[in-house]
Amino acid sequence: MKRTATLFLLIVSIAAFPRAQAPAEQLDYETIGRIRDEGLNRSQVMDHISWLADVYGPRLTGGPGIMQAGDWTLKKFAEWSLSNPHRETFQFGKGWSLERFSAHMIEPQVQPLIGLPGGWSAGTNGTVVAEVVRAQIDTEADIERYRGKLAGKIVLTQPARAVSMLEGLIVHRMTPEEFAEAATTPIPAARGRGGRGGAGGRGAADNSLRQKIAQFYKSEGVVALFNRGGDSASASAGSNLDTQQQRTDGGTIFPSGNGSRAADAGQAVPSVTLAVEHYNRMTRILDKGLPVKVELNIQTKFYDETSPNGFNLVAEIPGTDPALKDEVVILGAHFDSVAHSPGATDNATGSAAMMEAMRIIKAIGAKPRRTIRIALWGGEEEGLMGSRAYVREHFADVTTMTLKPAHAKVAAYFNSDNGSGRIRGIWLQSNLAVAPIFQQWIEPLRDLGVTGLGPRSVSSTDHVSFDNAGLPGFQFMVDRLEYNSRSHHSNMDTVDRVQRDDMVQHATVIAVIAWNAANRDEKLPRKALPPPQRSNTTDADR
Ligand SMILES: [Zn+2]
Repeated sequence: MKRTATLFLLIVSIAAFPRAQAPAEQLDYETIGRIRDEGLNRSQVMDHISWLADVYGPRLTGGPGIMQAGDWTLKKFAEWSLSNPHRETFQFGKGWSLERFSAHMIEPQVQPLIGLPGGWSAGTNGTVVAEVVRAQIDTEADIERYRGKLAGKIVLTQPARAVSMLEGLIVHRMTPEEFAEAATTPIPAARGRGGRGGAGGRGAADNSLRQKIAQFYKSEGVVALFNRGGDSASASAGSNLDTQQQRTDGGTIFPSGNGSRAADAGQAVPSVTLAVEHYNRMTRILDKGLPVKVELNIQTKFYDETSPNGFNLVAEIPGTDPALKDEVVILGAHFDSVAHSPGATDNATGSAAMMEAMRIIKAIGAKPRRTIRIALWGGEEEGLMGSRAYVREHFADVTTMTLKPAHAKVAAYFNSDNGSGRIRGIWLQSNLAVAPIFQQWIEPLRDLGVTGLGPRSVSSTDHVSFDNAGLPGFQFMVDRLEYNSRSHHSNMDTVDRVQRDDMVQHATVIAVIAWNAANRDEKLPRKALPPPQRSNTTDADR
């Protein structure tokens, strides 16, 4: 009864809500049907993902894996007859790769340790055996307390963390309640004084203390630092429906503590994140007053930036309408991964979906009115570096909001970077004028599960670089599956976590959306041009 009444109210309220007076979109159903046929029945998306993650992962910017992956991808672009496949480079800093890692507890018993060095970690001096001690150093007073006591030791830098049982679902698909929530916009919290991170504020103080502590470890002659990762924090609370938490347990680790990639790279004490269970075991033995010894070998390699170490990959399907072919629809995703992961769901999936969308459109011989461009970014994990560099080079200097002529030619930018799930809708990025357009675009995709439009702005990946420059950039709304609980930035972000059927849908939906954007009479509407931004704003993928 209650249910019926609610439904009735819902129908009444929808009927009473004034429909947006947008002109009807002229959708090209014939081509959309062919895109769906090619995408759903002859998908190659899993093959792209396997090459990027299995064969070439990790794809850490500046390292050898991403370079090889780039070569492979440019070859695929050429194979599909995309136009002008090429790299565009940007300054990044030193590259890094892990050459060898092994760690064994050897006293009081032998246990191979699950763990991984943080990116840009220094190596050890060959295989070393060292006593393990606990020393949690968070303040200047802590530094003095431990002075002279840590030489030749491996230091456990955090307290043990209780591991809870794996209860409840760790696989996440959007529920009706979450669609309802996504359709709302939370009021942003007030930004008062004493906020985080301002120059000279708490952030700067934290940073200088962190540097002091790092120098202390170094001058003390510490062999290595072990941590057990974070405290199951939500991956990025708020805007992107992150209802689960990272599960830093069960052998899955989310290594933390990236070293410097600047000129001083490799100077700090080597740092390793261990599986929490192995870390906790050592703390419990130490608590009994018994010694723990570890045999450790870390070999790492640094790559100087003699020419720019960062690159983006770009190729096109040229437009055919004389009046519109200079305009461009850009499909983007970050191509790089973090240091310690094959990067299957973050973000071989997004890159492969964009590649597959291009392949589909090319394979059916469709001729878009506007140019469709694919751009796969490097350096996203370090602060959207590739997409920011690209926007700066081609469209706008956001520090002054000086626009280049090509700024006027961008019809739309679409991004994929939330893992292996089905596309369930599009975040509007507070660009309400696109709502009635996208509403019509998703109609022929409803049977594939695309139903949601979220008015709010979402952050943390490369569409932000476009949005910051006043360009219409959008991120897709996706089912997170195991992204937040298992795969995102973990050592277990392997192709096993990628769901084939979801990815087939994901790539097909993107191809349809790109087709619509490339063929409608007008570019997508834009928001007002934003004021100049600070250039050093980072909004790295988290
Ligand atoms: Zn990502």
